[in-house]
Amino acid sequence: VSMKTVNVDLGDRSYPIYIGTGLLDHGELLRKHIPGKRVLIVTNETIAPIYLERCRKALLEGGQLQVDDVILPDGEEYKSIDVLEKVWDKALECRMDRGTTFLALGGGVVGDMTGFAAACYQRGVHFVQIPTTVMAQVDSSVGGKTGVNHPLGKNMIGAFYQPRVVLVDTDTLATLPDRELASGISEVIKYGLIRDAPFFEWMEANMERLLDRDPEAIAYAVERSCINKAEVVAADERESSEGVRATLNLGHTFGHAIETGTGYGVWLHGEAVAAGTVMAADLSYRLGWIDKTLYDRIVALLARARLPILPPPSMTADQFRSLMAVDKKVLAGKLRLILLRGPLGNCVVTGDFDPAKLDETLNHF
Ligand code: NAD
Ligand code: ZN
Repeated sequence: VSMKTVNVDLGDRSYPIYIGTGLLDHGELLRKHIPGKRVLIVTNETIAPIYLERCRKALLEGGQLQVDDVILPDGEEYKSIDVLEKVWDKALECRMDRGTTFLALGGGVVGDMTGFAAACYQRGVHFVQIPTTVMAQVDSSVGGKTGVNHPLGKNMIGAFYQPRVVLVDTDTLATLPDRELASGISEVIKYGLIRDAPFFEWMEANMERLLDRDPEAIAYAVERSCINKAEVVAADERESSEGVRATLNLGHTFGHAIETGTGYGVWLHGEAVAAGTVMAADLSYRLGWIDKTLYDRIVALLARARLPILPPPSMTADQFRSLMAVDKKVLAGKLRLILLRGPLGNCVVTGDFDPAKLDETLNHF
């Protein structure tokens, strides 16, 4: 197999991200990171018919593991605490002990939920990830943010809980709907904007190859994204107020408001982040922190990825203001945003901007 390894450096909790094609059939890559005898695969009703049996087979090879599964309903609207109880119900019914490993097989929703289930079950069992969407392969499966949504706010209930291994088989993207592919690319563009200008330029040259799912282009984008994510997470695992991890939330404060405001599942996460990134770029431009050329390049690249570049017309400035006030980046009552500042590849996390400019941005869209 052709495989790349990206390491997430967290001292004694460090773990590898294996990236390649056909990895789902290489159970040994997973099994060497699974310490106990039992595995609970958590997946959903869309992914199960396509990948569950292959995953089970890979784990069962070698004859050392007992494998059970739980299949959740599919959708962001099911990323809730009551659906999560199905995972704990299954684990308790099967009398799984603290040596069990919870394995997330799916996109970001399954990954975030499984990680949180693992963090809580008997105060913490082992956790591994097999991400099957671009979003999960480039972003959500790496870094240990886990959790569920609350009716009042996106990802408001959760825990930091790192996996022991992330197995990225880029072949799984073959079955992903186009809209989901684009949604994941939104986070790939994010890495370019916040810290990797050459990567952004590579995307400007290769966006159509990515959308055509050219395997070489996909492999490069996934690997480069994982390298960026791993570096940021290693530098600031818990998103401290002075740390760099918050920069990964570029576009997300606006984006979460869109996701919550339109109802979970109506806008895909990456779609909301794309429109949110345009709003963050607009504010950055109004503050004089980026030039018009960069603003135009951002909008053009997102549009080429077939992502939305405007928030939903139904949402008012007041609705944005109240939803954004719930955001976790609000510190001591002050709204902090990730804004672009300087040449391509530079951003700041700040609450120090003219609020009248934010009003201008909210009224403009
Ligand atoms: P998702 O998990 O809902 O998956 C998208 C859709 O694709 C679903 O319908 C799913 O069933 C289907 N699917 C998954 N893999 C497939 C495959 N290989 N073939 C066919 N269909 C497949 O959405 P997502 O975009 O992967 O993840 C979004 C979630 O991730 C959001 O809840 C977001 O908050 C979260 N997220 C978390 C982090 C983090 O750091 N933890 C980072 C980014 C996003
Ligand atoms: Zn995101």
